[in-house]
Amino acid sequence: MDIVKYLATALDPIHIGTGGYRLGRVDNTIIRDFDNVPKIPATAIAGAIRSYAALYFEKRGCAGKDDITGKGGRQCGETNCPICVTFGYSKDTEARVSMVSFSDARILFFPVSTMIGPVWVTSPGRLNEFTNSQNYECGSDEELKVAENFQAPDGRINLGWVLFKVKKDHLTLSDAGFAQIPSVIKNNAICVTDRIFPLIVNANLEVRTSVSIDPFTGAALEGALFTYEAVPRITIFWFECIYQDYKNFGDAKGYISKVGEKFPDVQDNAIKAAKAVVRTGMDWCEVLGIGGMNTRGFGRLRINVVNSGGK
Ligand SMILES: [Zn+2]
Repeated sequence: MDIVKYLATALDPIHIGTGGYRLGRVDNTIIRDFDNVPKIPATAIAGAIRSYAALYFEKRGCAGKDDITGKGGRQCGETNCPICVTFGYSKDTEARVSMVSFSDARILFFPVSTMIGPVWVTSPGRLNEFTNSQNYECGSDEELKVAENFQAPDGRINLGWVLFKVKKDHLTLSDAGFAQIPSVIKNNAICVTDRIFPLIVNANLEVRTSVSIDPFTGAALEGALFTYEAVPRITIFWFECIYQDYKNFGDAKGYISKVGEKFPDVQDNAIKAAKAVVRTGMDWCEVLGIGGMNTRGFGRLRINVVNSGGK
């Protein structure tokens, strides 16, 4: 088993819809975690990566669920298929578990504009979870910590309409896990308490108004004005993948050599092969995006490896 941690940077606003309406301030809401902070659910990440990897390996039928009507394409279920073996399949009377499982992507740094420019807000709980440590804490709800060299006039800073007191001790992001994060974000990072974090995020989501177009007249549909929310671009998420090497699976050699046609360096290692397949899907998330509102320029996500695992 190999656990790999990834950072995902939103290059566009990200909208992963709840698929329904709820009463509130917008029509199309996004999926949230138990603490009311938006997240990208594992299913959305896995689905996008699988379908892009299937495009890469020219196995379109294997992109999604098996469709017995044949319209959406049937999964091949071949024992050496880079897609069916890596992501699993379920077809007629046979099935195979996935070699890779994804966690939800949680927000690590969230951009907010202030009187002195953009900052990236985080919280101790999120930093501790990401670094697998207990190194981070942050006083009371009225206070926040800033990175060293961050200049806050009069020792105060606003996040939206709320004014916070800046603590004397600094936020230090020296853990190796932060090496991939651009210094402009680390130098402008701000830590608020875990209680305040969801409030700041929800007060600073993007809310846009759009209108549905009548396909016949090309004009706006009567009564079709709608609003939707999205996580703003340059939000930093993180997630993990667990890769499993099923030693006994029937045709490991065939699978590895099939992936090896495109990635010769996987040699004789099934986990390396699975990682290479997942990577092809991740690379296309940066171009084709994930989630909804793709046609409105939403969804591009850049995914970087934090640590290559080894557990
Ligand atoms: Zn297949």
